[in-house]
Amino acid sequence: MTARPRPHLPMRPAWLCRNCAAAWPCGPAQLALATEFYGHSIALAFYLAASMQEAIDDVYGLGMRPDPSALHARFLGWLSLARRPRRR
Ligand SMILES: [Zn+2]
Repeated sequence: MTARPRPHLPMRPAWLCRNCAAAWPCGPAQLALATEFYGHSIALAFYLAASMQEAIDDVYGLGMRPDPSALHARFLGWLSLARRPRRR
């Protein structure tokens, strides 16, 4: 059997990465999404916005109150980095 690298996918309802346990989308997940959606940044934004909405619903489902600005920064705030070369 070949060991395949485990994808960095979210584990609901906590929305932590199944692989590295970081808040999803973690760094490797962002890289994978930017690659998968290369040239389709609008589709990626819709996908992330839908994921953010599901995460908000899950937070309510857990009986907690979501922090919309923090969730927006987490799910969509990194998007401009996907389109521009990263500045160092
Ligand atoms: Zn991860």
